[in-house]
Amino acid sequence: MSPKVYINGEIFEKEDARISVYDHGVLYGDGVFEGIRVYNGEIFRCSKHMDRLYASARAIALEIPISKDEMVDAMHRTLDANGTPDAYIRLLVTRGIGTLGLNPYECHDPQVIIIADSIALYPPEYYEKGLELVSVATLRNHPNAVNPRIKSLNYLNNILAKIECIQAGVGEAIMLNKDGYVAECTGDNIFTVRNGALVTPPVHAGILEGITRQVVIELAREAGIETREQDMTRFDLYVAEECFLTGTAAEIIPVVRIDSREIGDGQPGPVTLMLLKMFRDQTTNNTG
Ligand code: PMP
Repeated sequence: MSPKVYINGEIFEKEDARISVYDHGVLYGDGVFEGIRVYNGEIFRCSKHMDRLYASARAIALEIPISKDEMVDAMHRTLDANGTPDAYIRLLVTRGIGTLGLNPYECHDPQVIIIADSIALYPPEYYEKGLELVSVATLRNHPNAVNPRIKSLNYLNNILAKIECIQAGVGEAIMLNKDGYVAECTGDNIFTVRNGALVTPPVHAGILEGITRQVVIELAREAGIETREQDMTRFDLYVAEECFLTGTAAEIIPVVRIDSREIGDGQPGPVTLMLLKMFRDQTTNNTG
């Protein structure tokens, strides 16, 4: 069945869901978004996604025309129209129609768009055998340029890195920051296991504060695994016992090779598999 799309209070068939070419979301990538999972009819970590969406909007001085509660109602309306208990929601707020100049203050009608569809970021076999990564030359945006904490509609920084890993014939790209520390991948956060402890780059490394990242940190602490947010170089990746990526679309995916070095024994590791199982238990018993 063709997905139904919500735009500013109305539900459209996918084919009829349109916005203006004068929308600054199209002209300049001016807007914010969220990717959100729905498991068993419940929106996973809904309030966290709402908080991040409204914080991203605040950071770019974009006033979302509806409240968080109204946004949640709008997501439920979209889900009801689609009638699927499991979905991937793409929620966008664009700056709206403006002139051909940059001035966002001349845009008076932000567009709220909610797509409920499905997504498969990586082929299913990689969840079993693990993904290969390559570190790329494109640096993650400097926080004082476009802060990676803003989930903005402009993903060119990530797309440039994605092009590099595709050219290298590898599934995902590791982006470093300007100081040479590991930041994140193009659409996922990165974790390693070293001496049994879980280590992930801190927010100050210039990353999106992933909601799945936070869930995994909580699960690891629950399981009694020491967990640290710490600056990492590529060395730290190469000598890790295990590595995996987290994201709403990817969920948890094991990593077994980085820059042609095998990670651990080249198989998804025990801590990764345990966290993956704990994560699956959370999502199958999803209560929001
Ligand atoms: N980093 C980037 C650059 C992302 O785009 C995403 C989301 N796709 C993530 C990390 C993971 O964030 P979350 O777990 O909230 O989906």
